[in-house]
Amino acid sequence: MSLRVTVWNEFVHERNNEFVRSIYPDGIHEQIAGHLRAQGLEVRTATLDRPDHGLTPEVLDATDVLMWWGHAAHDKVRDDIVDRVQQRVLHGMGLVVLHSGHFSKIFKRLMGTSCGLTWREAAERERLWVVSPNHPITQGCGRFIEIPNAEMYGEFFDIPDPDELLFVSWFEGGEVFRSGAVWHRGRGRVFYFRPGHETFPIFHHPQVLQVLANGVRWCAFAGNDQMVSIGQAPNQKEPLEELSPKDYVAGALRHPPASVC
Ligand code: ZN
Repeated sequence: MSLRVTVWNEFVHERNNEFVRSIYPDGIHEQIAGHLRAQGLEVRTATLDRPDHGLTPEVLDATDVLMWWGHAAHDKVRDDIVDRVQQRVLHGMGLVVLHSGHFSKIFKRLMGTSCGLTWREAAERERLWVVSPNHPITQGCGRFIEIPNAEMYGEFFDIPDPDELLFVSWFEGGEVFRSGAVWHRGRGRVFYFRPGHETFPIFHHPQVLQVLANGVRWCAFAGNDQMVSIGQAPNQKEPLEELSPKDYVAGALRHPPASVC
């Protein structure tokens, strides 16, 4: 069975801004979905204005990896849908969060921090340096990815220390930024990737698209499926080995242990 991906987009800028629409006529979600489909993945899209934002239990149950692009409408995402997505991540669904998705409810929920950063819109050159060349997500990137015009994101980026840092960006104006990083949450894998400002054609960049495909494949691994589901583990009291008689029974001291006599 091929990998099942849902690309979510709030789909606001492409409708209310003609310039953004000229770059992404069918929306950022369809641009990314088209590339992933060409890689042989099974891809659907979902947007804010659909019932349940397109993220019904049926859709999420049939999603191995969810990709998230949001910017102007983070606060319009319903909290019960955020709960639902979080639960799916804890039970093994991968999540790829793009660019301004750093301020999405779901990313902040999963990180547990403000996820704030500094930014500047000045069409600067950006180099995303590969700092983890052995990681599957950085394959095909060489030493760095260069983006001629990008919005700057700078440190401090208020995220918990990642399990692995994959890219560090340098910007023409002098800032640096942790622009690609991964975490585990429950059985799920989370990948944050910085590029993607809506007024630049960044999701047409071949290496950016390559990283997205790599990221989807890496995030699809849902952990050890022999384990009981996170949060549903029954209390297993039976020991694997035979226990020797103990002086302690059910937390009560029957006889003082010899060591304290
Ligand atoms: Zn942006």
